[in-house]
Amino acid sequence: MEFSQYAVDKLMVITNRPPLVFVEGDGMWLTDNNGKRYLDYLQGWAVNCLGHSPQCIHDALAAQSKKLINPSPAFYNEPSIELARLLTDNSCFDRVFFANSGAEANEGAFKLARKWGKVNKNAAGENRYEIITFDHSFHGRTIAAMSASGKAGWDTIFAPQVPGFHKAVLNDIASVEKLITDKTVAVMLEPVQGEAGVIPATREFMQALRTLTKERNLLLIVDEVQTGMGRCGDLFAYQLSGIEPDIMTLGKGIGGGVPLAALLAREEVAVFEAGEQGGTYNGNPVMTAVGVAIARELLAPGFLQSVKDKGAYLSQELLKLSDKHGLAGERGEGLLRALQLGKDIGPQIVDRARDLEPFGLLLNSPRPDLLRFMPSLNVSKEELDQMLALLSDVLTSLGH
Ligand SMILES: *Cc1c(COP(=O)(O)O)cnc(C)c1O
Repeated sequence: MEFSQYAVDKLMVITNRPPLVFVEGDGMWLTDNNGKRYLDYLQGWAVNCLGHSPQCIHDALAAQSKKLINPSPAFYNEPSIELARLLTDNSCFDRVFFANSGAEANEGAFKLARKWGKVNKNAAGENRYEIITFDHSFHGRTIAAMSASGKAGWDTIFAPQVPGFHKAVLNDIASVEKLITDKTVAVMLEPVQGEAGVIPATREFMQALRTLTKERNLLLIVDEVQTGMGRCGDLFAYQLSGIEPDIMTLGKGIGGGVPLAALLAREEVAVFEAGEQGGTYNGNPVMTAVGVAIARELLAPGFLQSVKDKGAYLSQELLKLSDKHGLAGERGEGLLRALQLGKDIGPQIVDRARDLEPFGLLLNSPRPDLLRFMPSLNVSKEELDQMLALLSDVLTSLGH
């Protein structure tokens, strides 16, 4: 099938895309408009936790769309109640607000923290509203989420920023302590910085943050939009450190490919009053029905253990690849991993891998000296081996 450049040029430019149109997806595989197949290690940017077009999403969409699509957020609906129950039964949180994107869930977290800081004022009787976030962090693309993010250049593109976000250094507890003022209300971080290049917060750092925030009466917010829903081996990545945060946001994997996100809080922190938070599509039954189907699959006996096992296998094989080709190692948690290249050859590898014949390999290079792997959580060992072999060929063909 041909596609017309004329029609493509009607889309706003937001990123540089290869001249392909994808028309079908099945598990770890995508097919383009010319019928060429690709082994997909992006999976919608760590979104498709059960791969492309899994049966359970298809079934949930078909069944729920036939039954009830939109009663409005003014009324309860069954799937959103069931998904809230599943998420709270399997985490340290008590209350859920559903959203449509990670950035929107994070906006909700900022609002909830500011509201809590109004209820829990400082000694001088003032509202607290400052949130400490981290260099290189990524929290989304609304103006407030960009202000919270520590991405280079983001402080000026759409200036002025939303005030009240201060950036500390990941895994450096003193840098956090230094930023605490009598206006501080929360500390917010990704348990593994995804867009920054898969940089894990250490277990010790997560624990030190929990201790510090408790001592200073601050909220601890985890942005698990990328790390949550089994991606790191436990259902939520905060569980790897054995701590209990106050607020968590989810996105990406929670919908397995459909727009769904969530804001979760402990009971004492869930201080919104009627009218303070909402949204037309929030918690709609079609998306939350998909969320229920996904959550049930992730919670099935043995599933999360299989993610841990495959994560350990991918880690070990990436290290071997790194040794073989003289690269700089690997890091990550579960099935969110990065290969450190030691030189700026990431974009070259991505292009070469995509252009392989007879089928291509889709990879992501969030930084030029790094490749990030975000397979579906039900990826097979054969599909991991296939990717590793293709990647090794590409590295050899580039002279590494
Ligand atoms: C992707 C991502 C977001 C933004 O989610 P959107 O659905 O694109 O708005 C926020 N935080 C983290 C950690 C992410 O990886």
